[in-house]
Amino acid sequence: MLLIHCPYCEEDRPELEFRHAGEAHVQRPSQSVEPGRAVAEALYLRTNTRGVVFERWRHVHGCGRFFNAARHSVSDEFLAFYKAGEAKPEITGEDTGPAQGREIIR
Ligand SMILES: [Zn+2]
Repeated sequence: MLLIHCPYCEEDRPELEFRHAGEAHVQRPSQSVEPGRAVAEALYLRTNTRGVVFERWRHVHGCGRFFNAARHSVSDEFLAFYKAGEAKPEITGEDTGPAQGREIIR
């Protein structure tokens, strides 16, 4: 079972208390943009990266708040947890392939 660190509760809790909420830091087009390709891409296209991914999570059976996490998509290793609205942390080490020798940031 994965343990996920909620940056608001400041505890490591079982993954069953959390719900994945999609990709983090998705740039949405401004409201002045006509519906079309830019809006469709913002709504439906995701990166699907092999390596470090930035995701939104919600602590549904805890504080109920959304936060972001950096996770390696191959090893499922969580690399960082940070509050919603905060900038992406810099993840050092190789960004693709299995997670090895990577610094864990909390
Ligand atoms: Zn929480």
